[in-house]
Amino acid sequence: MITFDGVSKRFPDGSLAVDDFSLTIPSRTTTVLVGSSGSGKTTLLRMINRMVDPTSGRILIDDEDVAGLDPVKLRRRIGYVMQNSGLLPHRTVIDNVATVPILEGVKKSEAHARALELLDTVGLDRGLAKRYPAQLSGGQQQRVGVARGLAVDPNILLMDEPFGAVDPLVRDELQQELLRIQRDLSKTVVFVTHDIDEAFLLGDQVVILRTGGVIAQAGTPAEILANPIDEFVASFVGADRGKRSLHVDPAHTSGERGERVLVDGGGRAVGILRDEAPAPRSPGAVAP
Ligand code: ADP
Ligand code: MG
Repeated sequence: MITFDGVSKRFPDGSLAVDDFSLTIPSRTTTVLVGSSGSGKTTLLRMINRMVDPTSGRILIDDEDVAGLDPVKLRRRIGYVMQNSGLLPHRTVIDNVATVPILEGVKKSEAHARALELLDTVGLDRGLAKRYPAQLSGGQQQRVGVARGLAVDPNILLMDEPFGAVDPLVRDELQQELLRIQRDLSKTVVFVTHDIDEAFLLGDQVVILRTGGVIAQAGTPAEILANPIDEFVASFVGADRGKRSLHVDPAHTSGERGERVLVDGGGRAVGILRDEAPAPRSPGAVAP
C-alpha cells in the first residue's frame, strides 16, 4: 500500500506543483492518476520513488516513510516506465532489460535468461534481444520499457504516460497487454495518463486531478461514470466526447429498476451500472 499524507511540492522557482495531496493506493491493483498536462501527475509519481522529494507531507510504502529510505535502493526496487521508453541507446534490448538486476548482484547469465522470459511476458519476439532501441518500432520500444520496469520483480510499477507516444492501434494493443500482465502478476501499478478512456480501461481506482494535484474525484470507473461529482468531472468524463469514449447514456436509462446503461462511442451498450456493485475491474467488468 502507498499512502500520500498531506503532500505538497513547491519547486525552487516557486511553482506549487502539488498542493496538499492525500491518497491511499491499495496494493496489487492499478490506480490511475488522470488529469490535463501540468496537473502534477509526473511530480506525484516521482515522489513515490524519490526522484522528487516533497516540500511537506509524507509518502509511505507499507507504513514506511520513503524519506528515510536510500533513493538509489528505492528506485531499484520500484519499476519505472516512461513515455519515451528511456532505454539506453547504446545497449541492446537484452542489456537494457538486464542492467538493473546485474547492478543488484544477479549473475549475468541469470539476468539474461530472466530478461528473455520478460520479453515473452511483454509479447516481444526473443529474436529482438540483440537489437538496439533505434532498430525497434515505438511500440516495441515501449514493450522493452515495460520489461525493464519488471526486471527486478518489483512490487510497485510506476508508469508515466507509457503509451502516450505510440499510434492508437498500437496503444490499444499495449493497453490489452498491460491488462493481461496485471492479471498474471498483480503488481501495485500507479499509472499516469491524460486520457480518460485509458484511465477507465486500466484503472481499478481512477483519480481525476485538477491543477495542483487537487483531487476532483476518486473512485472506481463505474462510480465515477455513474456519479460524476461536479461539472469539472462531468466534462472531463465527457458524455459527448470523441467516438470511442465510454459513457452513461442518458437516453438509455432502462431496465425495470432504471439501471444506467454504459455505452461505447459507437452507441453499443457494453454494460449496466449498478451503484452497489462491488469494485469492478474496469468498465468491461460491469454487470452483464
Ligand atoms: P503533469 O505530469 O501532470 O503534466 P507535472 O508534474 O510535470 O505535471 O508538473 C506540474 C507543475 O509543476 C507544472 O506547472 C510544471 O510546470 C511544474 N514543474 C514540474 N517540474 C518542475 C521543475 N522541475 N521545476 C519547476 N516547475 C516544475
Ligand atoms: Mg507528466
